[in-house]
Amino acid sequence: MGAPIPNEVTAYQNNWRFCDFCYSLWWNGNPDNGACPSPRSPDHQHHGQGSWNFILPANPAEHI
Ligand SMILES: [Zn+2]
Repeated sequence: MGAPIPNEVTAYQNNWRFCDFCYSLWWNGNPDNGACPSPRSPDHQHHGQGSWNFILPANPAEHI
């Protein structure tokens, strides 16, 4: 039996990756990978070498 899905989840966003350098998730759908805060990143962008593809549950109607 899988984990229950909260009622608040109305959408999913595909294509998130785990950064090898700053250990955070970043979205892999832009032309570049976005700014990485880690000084170990050679080009100051996130890198997802070997990362799983993460699909995030979301509620787009709840936003600030
Ligand atoms: Zn990063």
